[in-house]
Amino acid sequence: MNYRHIFHAGNFADVFKHALVARVLTYLIRKPAPLRYIDTHAGLGRYDLGREEATRTDEWRNGIGRLALAANPSGVGELLSPYLAAVGSTDAEGKPLSYPGSPAVAQAILRPQDRIALCELHGVDLEALKLNIGRDRRVKVIGLDGYTGLNAFVPPPERRGLVLIDPPFESRDEFDRILAALVGAHRKWPTGTYMLWYPIKDPAAVSHFALSLAASKIRRILQLHLFVGPRLAEDGPLSGCGLAVVNPPYTLKREAEVMLPFLAEVLGRAGAGSWAARVLSGE
Ligand code: SAM
Repeated sequence: MNYRHIFHAGNFADVFKHALVARVLTYLIRKPAPLRYIDTHAGLGRYDLGREEATRTDEWRNGIGRLALAANPSGVGELLSPYLAAVGSTDAEGKPLSYPGSPAVAQAILRPQDRIALCELHGVDLEALKLNIGRDRRVKVIGLDGYTGLNAFVPPPERRGLVLIDPPFESRDEFDRILAALVGAHRKWPTGTYMLWYPIKDPAAVSHFALSLAASKIRRILQLHLFVGPRLAEDGPLSGCGLAVVNPPYTLKREAEVMLPFLAEVLGRAGAGSWAARVLSGE
């Protein structure tokens, strides 16, 4: 396990993922009934962007840094506001006091009746996660493999909620592992919402994943992509990423069609941003 999210915190991929996680949670809290948020690969929860590891890459500058300094047109600003509220105030460079990972975004949006289950396997990051997030009585932090944890946590007693699967993609079979975990969890909890994040480095692997998802028995899947550079830059820095969303709120596609063009414009390198939102599998 070499991957450490501190090197990437607040980059364009985090902005994309966290802004969309915030939209799904904002939709789910419209109903008063409690819900559960499950994060299979939780990371540190919060990130000090002044730390040496973060300053070595400075990836946040082309992510939250750009977004924080951009003027949000009306309509987009409203959709981004739950995410930006979780980020909090930023300095003149667009740097927040600390950057919220997905657990902290959920922590900011969810209510006293909701519950948060977080898996993190890296020992040092697990301890940081406990310190950053774990003292909240709604939160349970577990040092367990995320896929094993997911199988154990579903169906949650609340019977409504969101699972984020956001692995580091260090192993070549990560797409297969995500798919297997999703199929297993969906069988036990077909009504949950699932968000699966992936990098777009090898377009053939992404197409194969999309075809496998579409061919599975799982229906109602939305695929969202954001690119900040040319689509086929396999050897260069990451330029694209995606989320497959199972059982998305009915509002999400329309919201993504407003947010993603804006994010592509603000975060795109030299005007090379682009995006996509398509239904992979219908009802
Ligand atoms: N979801 C986080 C966020 O958006 O703020 C970022 C997660 S980061 C991409 C992936 C995390 O998974 C890393 O912190 C890594 O240590 C952890 N990890 C790696 N293998 C794992 C496993 N098998 N189970 C749980 N966590 C794992």
